[in-house]
Amino acid sequence: MALLEEPIKGVPLIKNFINGEWVESKGEIRDVVNPVNGETIAKVPISTKDEVDAAVKAAQEAYPDWRRTTPLARIRSLFRLKELLEENFEELSRIQTQEHGKTIDESRGETRRGIENVEVATGIPTLMQGYFSEDIASGIDEWLIPTPLGVFGIIGPFNFPFMIPLWSAPYAVATGNCIVVKPSSEVPNSQIRITELAEEAGIPPGVWNVVNGGREVVTGMLEHPDIAGITFVGSTPTAKYIYKACGETGKRVIAQGGAKNFMVIMPDTDVRRTIPAIMTSFFGNTGQRCLSGANLVIVGNDDKFYNSFMDEVAAAASKIVIGNGLDESVQMGPLRDKEKKASILGYIESGVQQGGKLRLDGRKNFKITGDYPETCFLGPTIFENVTCDMKIGCEEIFGPVMSVMRAKNLDEAIAICNSSTFGNGNAIFTSSGKSAREFQYNMQSGNVGINIGIVAPMAFFPFSGMKDSFLGILHTQGQEAVRFFTESKVIIQRWF
Ligand code: NAD
Repeated sequence: MALLEEPIKGVPLIKNFINGEWVESKGEIRDVVNPVNGETIAKVPISTKDEVDAAVKAAQEAYPDWRRTTPLARIRSLFRLKELLEENFEELSRIQTQEHGKTIDESRGETRRGIENVEVATGIPTLMQGYFSEDIASGIDEWLIPTPLGVFGIIGPFNFPFMIPLWSAPYAVATGNCIVVKPSSEVPNSQIRITELAEEAGIPPGVWNVVNGGREVVTGMLEHPDIAGITFVGSTPTAKYIYKACGETGKRVIAQGGAKNFMVIMPDTDVRRTIPAIMTSFFGNTGQRCLSGANLVIVGNDDKFYNSFMDEVAAAASKIVIGNGLDESVQMGPLRDKEKKASILGYIESGVQQGGKLRLDGRKNFKITGDYPETCFLGPTIFENVTCDMKIGCEEIFGPVMSVMRAKNLDEAIAICNSSTFGNGNAIFTSSGKSAREFQYNMQSGNVGINIGIVAPMAFFPFSGMKDSFLGILHTQGQEAVRFFTESKVIIQRWF
């Protein structure tokens, strides 16, 4: 199958976007590498604290005018941005595949989910309305106005480089705030393209800034007195650090962390429809998804059901087509980089050491479609006989590794899921309404799936999470994002 054309050409040097200008950073320059073939496709700066300060200053200066711009005028720019994102849909998707490695279909799905957040944010004139009470005492009225707060920092992870900053950015801007976005320095190109389109859409200078880099940029944001709040999505250790730092400096914060998700299989499930859902859940995005399946819990003592189900799982996993995501027939791309692969190999080794039974060994026996080095590739891996006290049973692996466990009954399966320190997205597969109700009622996770493997909430629902998967109160996306990016100002007036 022929490859789709790569959109990033000629190794561009990525710049920062500050106050409506594309400016070269004075920071160290690093390579952005395509994981499929190891080619350098762009150069990204690790920007300095001074550059963060310049972006925050620009945002702070743009804020008074942007706040005074009527919500209807603000969302006109977002409607235009939405049109531009649609016009450039395929290019934006291919950028993600070229720099991240995910398949083109996964990238197209990501682009769609990102755009949906822009669409929902265009509802701000209604979503942001306050409320009014007449005569709280004789001749006195009271009302509430949601007001913007100023400047927000938006920090994204590597695994959904296009979509995740859009869980926050359109809501922040539509409610009248100004933003400084820090994309993951491993995969910055799709955010750069969004920013170009935001500029073209007429969002004024200083309202939407981008500063590339790593922890220096994050520290610069955390220490900056003019940043009112931060939204962060990434691993749990970084989420905890950011949450604590925001607490110390009095900033609002949403910090979404890592995950270890359980998929529970009841013996009454519709196997034909369950297997494909399990495949996309565990091996989609090469397992690099905060809502990926990690542990498969098969319920009941029926060995016949267990064996035939696992035969089907292993057969389907070994048929997954691996290769370059720009080949439309490929179903699983490489991991983002060789360091991530090394970390996953370490987990596989620990699984073997701790007594897991390797049913499918992704380190060998897999075939890459096309002529590519194995550097970042890993095949689907399945371990049986896993328990929650093993490293592969409790820690986030973030790769195409399935750990299979057994539970006597639904109560035991629920207890296994809830023993995790994480609480992002767990799912049950069953044809029993009673089991489904029991599961969702007892689940200690922010997202719960019933016969759905990837429980990603739509843009008009919050992106939830519990325990080590989420620190904060309000969430990104939808109405909760609107509340996060606004303060409730309460006014009481006596009329005389
Ligand atoms: P990461 O924590 O390494 O990095 C996330 C962001 O923080 C990046 O922009 C990075 O540059 C910055 N960063 C990294 N280390 C830092 C430090 N010490 N100080 C300050 N900033 C730092 O995460 P990642 O590897 O990019 O992303 C994968 C992780 O994100 C996984 O754990 C995954 O589960 C999680 N994730 C969670 C959700 C969710 O909604 N809960 C969604 C997607 C990904």
